[in-house]
Amino acid sequence: MIGLALKKNEIYNAEIVDYTTEGSGVCKIDGMAVFVPSAAVGDIAEIKILKAAKNYAFGKIENIITPSDNRISPDCSVFGKCGGCIFRHIDYKSELDFKQKRVYDTLTRIGGINGDLIGNIIGADNSEHYRNKAQLPVTLDSEGKVRVGFFAPRSHRVISLDDCKLQSKSFDKAVRIFLEWANENHIQPYDEGTHSGILRHLYLRYAEMTDELMVCIVANAKELRKEKQLVQMLAENLVNLRSVVLNTNTEKTNVITGKMCRTLYGEGYITDILCGMKFRISPLSFYQVNRSQAERLYHKAAEFADLKSDETLLDMYCGTGTIGLTMAKRVRNLIGVEIIPQAIEDAKSNAAENNITNAEFICADAAIAAETLKKRNIRPDCIVLDPPRKGCENSLIDTVSEMSPKRIVYVSCDPATLARDVKIFSEKGYFVQKAVPVDLFPRTPHVETVVLMSRKIII
Ligand code: SAH
Repeated sequence: MIGLALKKNEIYNAEIVDYTTEGSGVCKIDGMAVFVPSAAVGDIAEIKILKAAKNYAFGKIENIITPSDNRISPDCSVFGKCGGCIFRHIDYKSELDFKQKRVYDTLTRIGGINGDLIGNIIGADNSEHYRNKAQLPVTLDSEGKVRVGFFAPRSHRVISLDDCKLQSKSFDKAVRIFLEWANENHIQPYDEGTHSGILRHLYLRYAEMTDELMVCIVANAKELRKEKQLVQMLAENLVNLRSVVLNTNTEKTNVITGKMCRTLYGEGYITDILCGMKFRISPLSFYQVNRSQAERLYHKAAEFADLKSDETLLDMYCGTGTIGLTMAKRVRNLIGVEIIPQAIEDAKSNAAENNITNAEFICADAAIAAETLKKRNIRPDCIVLDPPRKGCENSLIDTVSEMSPKRIVYVSCDPATLARDVKIFSEKGYFVQKAVPVDLFPRTPHVETVVLMSRKIII
């Protein structure tokens, strides 16, 4: 029986029985689902109702009566406030179980695929300091000093990054120098309310294998006062500094970077090594934030692609060319498609740098490029799809199916849109052969999945 509506501020005893896709605990109180952040499946706890809607409620743990066997004590002072980590309170094995189940449930229920085709999740050896990219909002603290940090979830409140367990340690010193410069020279943070001020984000990138650091300042301006002094301070104190870039973003938007970049020091990019190859990364180009797990993901994608030397490979949403280029030596020719011009420039340079001569890169929207390639009568044997979270457009799925590749390898960072898309592909005659989740984002609810689809053989 569905009970009466739960009351705000009322406390109930309940057991956490599941997680939401975002990693919140779920319990049932009087038949109603209550979402409880930072709770672990198996916790029996006193839950205080914070907000009650008609069919669900949000609560928080007031007191744990019996802790879950999977609980560990969180080792970060801002866990639960910062929103970066969702899982510092359960062991990594339980986190992987959650991710496996999330992918399994989504692909079987929404995607309609047979659960036996889903392999075990590839977990990370290292779940700390794996992030090679930080985009830190700049703000003033209560004493009027410039500082940087993360936004708390669903708010614009900034939390400092002093001891972040996910970010690369190589960022700490760059942050200190940047703040010293900004405070000494009274360079004002950008205020989104009044659209005034200068400093929007401190954007840092690190190439783990080459130990190269990039500092990019995102500003509401085309130049910075005391810009030379900043470069000098960074260069004198950071032995691994390779590039300092000023990115201009004068729009009223919550998109972090603007389109214009000006190099203040170095080449304007850093170079990392991935799957034994060199990759140049510019500020506006995508690069996986967890390098070592990205390698495992790409190895799995290559295994699924099972390429032959006379085949044509099409790498859709190719970024700096990483997936396709790591497979290029196995095929006759490679075509990469990507919408960001800087990423395409990187991809071309990456091909040359790695002596790959059978690759062509096209800067265009994936769906439009697919249509053009089809008209050019290009018939790839294998197509890799690695779209952003929103997945593939229907028209792209149509064209890809019409090109009739033997194999489609779909790399996805969102199980829900992946499941939706594999269902559409199945209506076009492409069926999932295998799927494997890969954990690129330990301690967060995000999970990557790689799927192999093949054409239905009609006998
Ligand atoms: N395969 C790459 C990048 C994957 S991220 C890698 O593994 O590193 C997804 C990429 O899709 C981003 O580079 C993004 O710029 C690009 N993208 C987003 N929308 C697109 C579109 N409509 N057409 C083509 N590329 C797009």
